[in-house]
Amino acid sequence: YSAKRLKSGYSIYSEEQDEKDPYRLLLMGDLRAAIEKNELYLVYQPKAELKTNTILSAEALLRWKHPKLGLIPPSDFIPIAEQIGVINAITTWVLNEALKQSKLWEAEHIDIEIAVNLSARNLQDAELPIRLKALLQQYGVSPRKITLEITESFIMADPVRAKEVLMNIHEMGIQLSIDDFGTGYSSLAYLKTLPVDTIKIDKSFVADMANDATDSMIVRSIIFLAHNLGLKVVAEGVEDLQSWNMLASYGCDIIQGYYLQKPLAPYEFKRWLVARMESGITSGQL
Ligand code: C2E
Ligand code: MG
Ligand code: MG
Ligand code: MG
Repeated sequence: YSAKRLKSGYSIYSEEQDEKDPYRLLLMGDLRAAIEKNELYLVYQPKAELKTNTILSAEALLRWKHPKLGLIPPSDFIPIAEQIGVINAITTWVLNEALKQSKLWEAEHIDIEIAVNLSARNLQDAELPIRLKALLQQYGVSPRKITLEITESFIMADPVRAKEVLMNIHEMGIQLSIDDFGTGYSSLAYLKTLPVDTIKIDKSFVADMANDATDSMIVRSIIFLAHNLGLKVVAEGVEDLQSWNMLASYGCDIIQGYYLQKPLAPYEFKRWLVARMESGITSGQL
C-alpha cells in the first residue's frame, strides 16, 4: 500500500481497476473520518510579484497524513473525496483553516493574501457562497485577501451554473483565478466572459520552458493574450532562474514554484518571509 506505487500509474487506471485497487479502497474507507481525526493540514506556497519582487500571496495546499500510509498527495485523495461525496466537507474545512490563518497572519502583521483551490464539485454546492460569506464574517477577513483557484475543466463541465456561482462569489469581493490554464479546452476569450481576475499558466508549460522553445512560445503567447484581455498572469511551477528571467522579460505578473519556495507549514512560511525581507532580496534570488 505504498504511495509510491500509486504515483507510478494512478492516472491511467480504469474505473474497473479502481474499484479493486486496495490503496484506493483504503483511502475511501478512511477519508471520511480524516477531518475529525485531525489528519488534514494545510501548507502554504508563496507567490512573488515579479515587478516588485515582493511576496503578496500564498496558495493553501491540502495534505493528508494517514496514520498507516503516511503523507497522501491531494492528487490521490481529492478525486476520491469527490467520488464519495465528502468534497464539500473538505472544502469547508480548508476554507475555515485558511481564513483562520489569514486572521492569524494579519495579527502578526504579515500582510499576505491567501488562495484556496476549489474542486469540480464545489460549484454545484448551492451553499458555497453563503458559507464563504459566513466564514469571512466569522474571522473578520476582508474578501480582497482571498482568491479562489478553479480549474477550467470544471467550469466547462457546467458553464451556465459555474458562471452564476462565480458571479455570486466575485460580487462579495473575492478574487478568482483560473488554475492550470492551457490544459483544458476553454479559450481566453470565453474565460473573459467570467468574472475572472487572473489565470495561472499550468506548470507543464512552465517547468521546462528554458529548454523547450515550444513551451516558451506558448507561455509567451498566453501572457500576451491574457494581458490584452485585461487578465493578470501567474506562472506556476517555476523551477530555475532562467525560466524566472524569461517570465520577467515576457511581462508575467506573478510567479510561483520550487525556485522561489516549496509549500511550507505556517510557522516555516513566516520564518522564511521574515528572513527574506530582512536580507533585502533582489529579483531572481531565493
Ligand atoms: P495546483 O493547485 O495546480 O497546485 C500546484 C501543485 O504543483 C501543487 O501540488 C504544488 O505543490 C506543486 N508545485 C508547486 N511548485 C512546483 C514546481 O516548481 N514544480 C513542480 N513540479 N510542482 C510544483 P500539490 O500540493 O500536490 O497539489 C496538487 C493539486 O491538488 C493542486 O494543483 C490542486 O489541484 C489540488 N489541491 C491541493 N490542495 C487542494 C485543496 O485544498 N482543495 C482542492 N479541491 N484541491 C486541492
Ligand atoms: Mg492551485
Ligand atoms: Mg495549478
Ligand atoms: Mg497544476
